[in-house]
Amino acid sequence: MFYKVVISCFKHQKFFDETCEMCKKEYFLVKGLEEKAKQLYEKLFLYYLKTLNNEKDASSKAKSIITKQCQIRNMQPWNWI
Ligand SMILES: [Zn+2]
Repeated sequence: MFYKVVISCFKHQKFFDETCEMCKKEYFLVKGLEEKAKQLYEKLFLYYLKTLNNEKDASSKAKSIITKQCQIRNMQPWNWI
């Protein structure tokens, strides 16, 4: 579902340097994780929509699960959460 280790560039911590190999790796990893998180959100949302029969509740339930997953992995949740 998520990668256990998040690669992080030590030289550029506040921004991604396009010429830096480590930054590029970090960028694609984060991008990949975000895609995975969005797919997971969709699945969870549809699942809870069926059970709860309420779009708002299903959405907040799905988001709270992803937020928890991020916290377990010491990751900052995405801005769409
Ligand atoms: Zn870098």
